[in-house]
Amino acid sequence: MSVDSIIGCRLCGARDYARLYDVRGWPIGRCRKCGLEQVMVSPDAQVLDDIYGESYFAKGKYRQDVAGQREQERRIAFMRASGLPGGSRVLDLGMATGEFLGAAREHFELWGVDVAESAVEHARALYPERAAQLFAGMAQDAPLPAEYFDAVVMWDVVEHLDDPVSTLNFAVSRLRAGGWIFLSTPNAGAWIASLMGARWHFMTPPEHLVYFDRRSLQDLCVRCGFAPQRWMTRGKWVNLGFMLHKLRRVMPGLMPASLQARVAESRFGSWCLYAPTGDIQYLAAQRQ
Ligand SMILES: [Zn+2]
Repeated sequence: MSVDSIIGCRLCGARDYARLYDVRGWPIGRCRKCGLEQVMVSPDAQVLDDIYGESYFAKGKYRQDVAGQREQERRIAFMRASGLPGGSRVLDLGMATGEFLGAAREHFELWGVDVAESAVEHARALYPERAAQLFAGMAQDAPLPAEYFDAVVMWDVVEHLDDPVSTLNFAVSRLRAGGWIFLSTPNAGAWIASLMGARWHFMTPPEHLVYFDRRSLQDLCVRCGFAPQRWMTRGKWVNLGFMLHKLRRVMPGLMPASLQARVAESRFGSWCLYAPTGDIQYLAAQRQ
């Protein structure tokens, strides 16, 4: 890595990092000015294409299961508890294959966007009545009406973004005054994140480029014109197959790949466990 390739902080623009560690060759640093932890370089287009191409949503980790269903219910409950009425117009930025859409369509009028074309096609086939409101590509290029939505949701999306500020600015532009943004993202301020460091299971560059704690996530929202209203952390409902997949990724020596694959394919693979790690955070914020 040359010094030239180090980018300005994704939140405040400063180019002054405390270097923390390298993870799979990616340098992770904490901005000395605003405190945001992040990958200090930008992945090139080829790397991103390799991540988010055809296979990204085909790994089985986003399939509908009990753990996924509970997560969707938690998201909907968080939105309703924040005061979003039923029937609201909701834009799902980074909708993936439409799991949230499927769970929330009884509650809200949903629109969705994702960069992965195959994921959007999958969602369109599942929910043909919504197909005309689901778009593939960059959100900025989708025909989404300005100042139209009551809420934008970004579930486990913001940590993937090379430029989270511009995406939140886009979200602001689509929201009516007083409209909501609901975010979930790994919580780098959680005890387990501090304990595990480079081996924290969400420390997965270059998929995850930004590691927010409560302060930096709120800072992001405030900079983009939102007033934070509600914040919480939770652990995660996970199925055993997914947990072993993650575990093997951070500690490859722990178990052979063949064992992990066998468990994932067996009936035990869908067993559902609650991991009380507090390392998922949820933030509700309102457009000023
Ligand atoms: Zn910064």
